[in-house]
Amino acid sequence: MTGEPAGTMLYEGKAKKIFTTERPDQVLQYFKDDATAFNAQKRGTIADKGVVNNKVSERLFTLLEQQGIPTHFIQRLSDREMLTKKVTIVPVEVVVRNVVAGSLAKRLGLTEGAIIDPALIEFYYKDDALGDPLVNDDHLRLLNVATPAVLREMRDLGHKINAVLLPFFKQRRMLLVDFKLEFGVFHNRLILADEISPDTCRFWDQTTKESMDKDRFRKDLGKIEEAYQEVLKRVCG
Ligand code: UDP
Repeated sequence: MTGEPAGTMLYEGKAKKIFTTERPDQVLQYFKDDATAFNAQKRGTIADKGVVNNKVSERLFTLLEQQGIPTHFIQRLSDREMLTKKVTIVPVEVVVRNVVAGSLAKRLGLTEGAIIDPALIEFYYKDDALGDPLVNDDHLRLLNVATPAVLREMRDLGHKINAVLLPFFKQRRMLLVDFKLEFGVFHNRLILADEISPDTCRFWDQTTKESMDKDRFRKDLGKIEEAYQEVLKRVCG
């Protein structure tokens, strides 16, 4: 196992640590194996999750860049380390949904597995103390979190990213049920940040409809490590 990065730690999140680099406009994301769910009430580790999430994110950020979507990705440095542009994160989680699952099924009493077309976009205000509440554009304006123009751009980018990722996963016999995006501001420009991985997406195997993502941890479905490795194989293999 490689040691900790050389820089100063700027931030430690649930699944990643962020370190300084020699350049003030770049940071290093270090992917951990720690897993949390239900606003960190459930904790555990998933062996080699950090390696899988780093490599899957690299593949997806590269794909999105090729399709003209700006991201914070610069380069993967090692199994667990990714060099990225240093952004100011917009404290909004943008969730894109193609299939009913998770909190949407619960909140609206909808049947899990029902297709949503066109995709549904939701905003959640990133605030651990409040438990990341679902909010609308007016709430975010009230909170001074994002201007209408930024909200419009995040919504447009959510749809564009979905249009790239849906067929990519379909080719790999995976249904992209839903996923969460975070954006950041870099030189006055909104770019995609954070990660896109089995921690932040729901994938169902196209044939068996089995979960290949963090739901296996959330719901104690077993074979968690195996599912993460299978995603790595299908996405990067
Ligand atoms: N998600 C995430 N981080 C969060 C909340 C949700 O990455 O803090 C992802 C989650 O993995 C799923 C999608 O966003 O792919 C929608 O999650 P949902 O609202 O259904 O919440 P959950 O059921 O995960 O509580």
